[in-house]
Parts: sequence; structure tokens; C-alpha cells
Amino acid sequence: MSIFHRLRNPCSWRNGVKQIPLDAIIPIFAVPLLAIIASKTIYTTLIVFVTCPIVVYHLHHNFLRFLPRSKFFLMWTITSVLMLMLVFEFCVVPLLEILPEENLVFIICVFGAIICGYKTRINTDKNCGNQDSTGLFDVATGSEEASSRVYYCRICQTSILGREYHCKWLDCCIGSSNLQWYLTCCLLSAVAFIYGSNLTMTSVCHPFILVGTVLLPDDCSDVYHQFDLALCFVSSVYSLVIGIVVVGYLIYHSWLIFKGTTAHERRLNNSNTSSDNGVFNGLSQLVCCQS
Ligand SMILES: [Zn+2]
Repeated sequence: MSIFHRLRNPCSWRNGVKQIPLDAIIPIFAVPLLAIIASKTIYTTLIVFVTCPIVVYHLHHNFLRFLPRSKFFLMWTITSVLMLMLVFEFCVVPLLEILPEENLVFIICVFGAIICGYKTRINTDKNCGNQDSTGLFDVATGSEEASSRVYYCRICQTSILGREYHCKWLDCCIGSSNLQWYLTCCLLSAVAFIYGSNLTMTSVCHPFILVGTVLLPDDCSDVYHQFDLALCFVSSVYSLVIGIVVVGYLIYHSWLIFKGTTAHERRLNNSNTSSDNGVFNGLSQLVCCQS
């Protein structure tokens, strides 16, 4: 409690001082610390990459989901993006293995993804306000049949038109008003994460030429001899893992658009008809969405 009382923001104007929640501060220290630990040896890398998702999942399941609008996952996203960008610009680029135009493409994708992520959050907030005032949905009773394609989010505490799910990593609901921004954000971030990962790995490992100027890492066995190279390598693996997860979400949403449905409606249909979605739902809960 004393930590909570000390973490106060003196600039808040509405209620005097405002507490900065501890769950929002943890990722700012945890993400860089985990990256440093993972960069020690190949074994610490494996331990961090295996245990971290399990610990975060249990932290969310047993603690964070009971906090109203926890900023833990949003802060995790911001810290990770910032850390990966700093590692790339200050550790990978000085190795002089990357062409200026390759760096430019990476920077454009990163900033494009950040702008689209910001637009996703801004547009979902507008939508929440509009839906509340129209009275399309009975918020008091929490009924979900009031209007077609308008669904209630317990975390945002409002109804969302064409609701997909509540994205923990952006801390906002994905609905029809911000789906385009969200998918553009996913597309640009997938390119940035995978391209950045490839550029980093081929800079710190021994590369081989795949086609033309496209390189792939060949032998990464000696990266742990130097801490900065190990940090670059760990960041590139982390970046690749996130990139693959984001590509999975792009494929999932493309399939939903093809089927003319939303993730929320699909969950409702599945819970009414059968329980064959257990594995995917469990995976979804871990990586992004929340019903
Ligand atoms: Zn929500």
C-alpha cells in the first residue's frame, strides 16, 4: 500500500493527486530486465521465452483481470516496441551491416504501426461514446440481444458496434469503427517485427544468401560471446515470435471477413452449438483477445 501511495502523479487536475497503478509500472522494468537476463546464455534465453508467457498468463488469470482496465498489457506493448526499436537503432544499425534504405523501410513500418495503433484506440473511444448515447443497448441489464451486431464489453463498460474482442495489448475494444485501423496496425507491425528480426539476425549471425539481396541467418552459435550481440539476437527472436502471432491474427481476421462474421459472433455461435473451439480460445486468451 505504501508503494501505491508513493506512486502519485502530482499533475492530475480532477481529484487532486492520482495514483499510478503498480500493474502499469511492472512492464517498464520487467521487459528490459527479462531481455538482459535472456541475453546471458542460451539457457537463460530458453528459460525466459518458455516461462514468461506462462507467468504472464497466470498473472492475468489470477490477478490482472480483476483490476478494472488494467494498463499492464498496454504498457507491455509500449515498452516492448520502444525497447526493440532502441536495440535496433543503437545496437544493430551501428554494426553497419544494414543499408540506409532497409533502415528507412523499418522505421516507416514502425511509425505507421504506432500511428494506426493510436488511431485504433482513439476511434474505439468515440464509438463507445456514440453507442452509449443512442440507447441501442441496455447497459443496465447486460443483455446481449438488444440490437444486432452491438455487443457489450465488460471491461470498457459500454456497447460496441460489430464487436470483435477486447484487445489487451492496445487496451481497447476492436469493433467496426476501428477494425481497419487495427488490421493496418497488425499488417505494418507484422512487417516491422519480422523484417526487423531478419535484419537483426543476419547482422549478428553468419548469414547466407537466399535470393538476390534476401539473407537468412545460418550460424548463430557465437552471439553469446558479446553481450550487445546477444541482446540483439534475443530481441530479434522476441520480435519474430510477436510477428508470427500478429500474422496469425491477420489470417484469423481475413478468414472472419471472408465468412462475413466477427470474432464475438463466432464465439457466441460456438458456445451455443458445440465446444470444439477450446484449443483456439485458450490460445487466443493467452496472446490477445478477451471475450
Ligand atoms: Zn472493451
